[in-house]
Amino acid sequence: MRALTLIADRQLELRDVAPPAPPAAGEVQVRVKALALNHLDLWGFRGMAFAKRQMPQIVGVEASGEIAALGPDVTSFRVGQPVVMYGGKTCGVCKACIEGRDNLCENVAGIMGFHVNGFARDLVNMPARLVVPVPNGVSLRDAACAPIAFATVQHMLFDNAKLRPGETILVQAGGSGIGTVAIKMAKAVGCTVITTVGDDEKAAKAKALGADHVINYNTERFETLTRKLTNKKGVDVVFEHVGGEGFNGSLLVLKRGGRLVTCGSTAGPSVTLNLMQLFQQQYKIFGSFGATLQNIRDSLAKMANGLTPVIDLEVPLAEFERGLARIESRKVFGKVIVTF
Ligand SMILES: [Zn+2]
Repeated sequence: MRALTLIADRQLELRDVAPPAPPAAGEVQVRVKALALNHLDLWGFRGMAFAKRQMPQIVGVEASGEIAALGPDVTSFRVGQPVVMYGGKTCGVCKACIEGRDNLCENVAGIMGFHVNGFARDLVNMPARLVVPVPNGVSLRDAACAPIAFATVQHMLFDNAKLRPGETILVQAGGSGIGTVAIKMAKAVGCTVITTVGDDEKAAKAKALGADHVINYNTERFETLTRKLTNKKGVDVVFEHVGGEGFNGSLLVLKRGGRLVTCGSTAGPSVTLNLMQLFQQQYKIFGSFGATLQNIRDSLAKMANGLTPVIDLEVPLAEFERGLARIESRKVFGKVIVTF
């Protein structure tokens, strides 16, 4: 079978490898059908000096597929059933896992496709516990965006920031994979959405997705415009994943007591915080990473109800790198899918 393997920084090789053994007790074997690409794939591909990683490594952090075989005691799935996989190798027995908060697992063995072997291969054995059925009417292409892109946003907006209907939210970098999902999810619950994008073409696309106000951050100051759009009150929630120099601007546009939730730092990981502003304005800042299995189930249910991902580009497995280049170029609007 095929396995797309990272052999050194920025060096991928499509290898022919032995298929996995039949699934053991508690496991299922999944035939991978689609991957969705994330910034995490890009970081892994470029190399991260401080990350403890297995090399060489099979890439692919987010995927969907079909059940190919069942472990001897597994009765909750059937062969041929469409599924998605949870990408964190969590223990399943610690307090956090038992409470359904897998992204806070105390003994996590790593993120698949980043720390340990991932999903860019024809067949993969998984603990049945980490596999989620795809409901009727959801394509495997769309479902591939559930475990990270959709579930991360679901976790950020609703578990952490506790976004409520009628609130106003600023979605930073609305054209990105998770930005497009955030716009759609916030609109679906009746929020007013302000979003930032880097060019006018993306602005039109963000508008078409339902964003109420779109700001081109290269030609306008989002801080000034957001305050103007909210009659100087500021927004209830900021959806952040950019970091860098814009982070303080994101705090500045919050109303008193507002919530900022972040899951990324694509423009830089370090910022200087004004603590006086933080406590006087009673801001709440949430760091968010990954998602729970329930977030994945909820995401798939939203897809079944018509809240589908925006797909920018589909490439075959052999052109995985072209997909990454699309994300790196920042021309991307929505998700990049790798098909098998
Ligand atoms: Zn655990």
